Amino acid sequence: MENRGDDAPDRAGLDTGRSAERLAPSLLALTPAQTERAIERLGGRAFHARSLRRHVIQEGRILPEQWTDLSARLRQALMERLPPVAGEETDRRTARDGTVKFLTRFAPSAAAEGVPARQGGAVETVHIPSHRDVGTATLCVSTQVGCPVRCPFCASGRDGLVRGLQGHEILEQYVRGRAIGPLGRSVVMGIGEPLLAYPALAFALEAVRSEMGLGARRITVSTVGFPDRLRQLAPTRPGFQLAISLHSPDDEQRSELVPLMRGVPVEEVLQAGDHWFRETGREVTYEYVLLGGTNDSDGHARRLAERLSRRRATVNLIPYNPVEGDNYRRPAPEHVARFQSLLEERGIVATVRWSRGLEADAACGQLRRRGN
Ligand code: SF4
Repeated sequence: MENRGDDAPDRAGLDTGRSAERLAPSLLALTPAQTERAIERLGGRAFHARSLRRHVIQEGRILPEQWTDLSARLRQALMERLPPVAGEETDRRTARDGTVKFLTRFAPSAAAEGVPARQGGAVETVHIPSHRDVGTATLCVSTQVGCPVRCPFCASGRDGLVRGLQGHEILEQYVRGRAIGPLGRSVVMGIGEPLLAYPALAFALEAVRSEMGLGARRITVSTVGFPDRLRQLAPTRPGFQLAISLHSPDDEQRSELVPLMRGVPVEEVLQAGDHWFRETGREVTYEYVLLGGTNDSDGHARRLAERLSRRRATVNLIPYNPVEGDNYRRPAPEHVARFQSLLEERGIVATVRWSRGLEADAACGQLRRRGN
């Protein structure tokens, strides 16, 4: 994990006074304490550091002209040596319903002392206006460039994994999202498998909770559910809601739909979910992409209900969004309603999430690595 403690070694590349190079890839790579030290090296004071973090992280103000309480000299020094963000927004699309998808490109970095070279890459983030909390939005963030899970119905996983994101790159998506408008919720459901980028995600979420003010109940992390990792993580009571992408009640079919989980029985995943609930007191949501004619039969609904009966869990049904060049189809609304009622008749709480932002190609499963 990138260290956020006061005595943290300067693993993010904090200046040791040798040169006029950047102090870190961006402000977002530093903890609050590290930021104070960095600002002091630039001739500022601790309160400047607090003010800067408030502008950038709390308010999403990434332009130096928005930091009106900082001197022009300090602003210039910051832009040269500690910029607020490391990436560049290279694409943005807005759907009729107000959903905004944006692409952030991160440059490759050369190896430095103790820090290996990194490939560049672009990731997508989606800002979805909330119906529930009017005036706020839900932000969907990515954790990896590409995805190693390779679900056959998902555009993001087609080319496999390029690299995991760093903590500041995940946090930058939040900051850029905040710049569009206030955030009421966040879902870590974009490109990538969050538990495989966990140290970086934990670093980013710490700032999201403590400096952006999004509480644990407002952050949902969605994973394919590696049982061992969940068992290790649960006792630490991480500050987020857990969602596990199940997509089938049957071992064989799940192995096809979630290839990285081949060989991990569905029951083992569910038991890890039960353990999570016992340890954290928070119910798990099981995500189920409904693929017309594939995993949406009455038998699937009954077997899923059987798997989940006597468990504290809810199901989130996500009707599939068509992706160019694959063989799956979107189920009819009547079919979705039937699947839902078969679950509910058996005592399982099931909601349906019709993805929004289709026009912007921003709906779940449609994030593409354009321009990578
Ligand atoms: S659906 Fe999620 S886990 Fe599966 S390939 Fe796409 S991004 Fe990865």
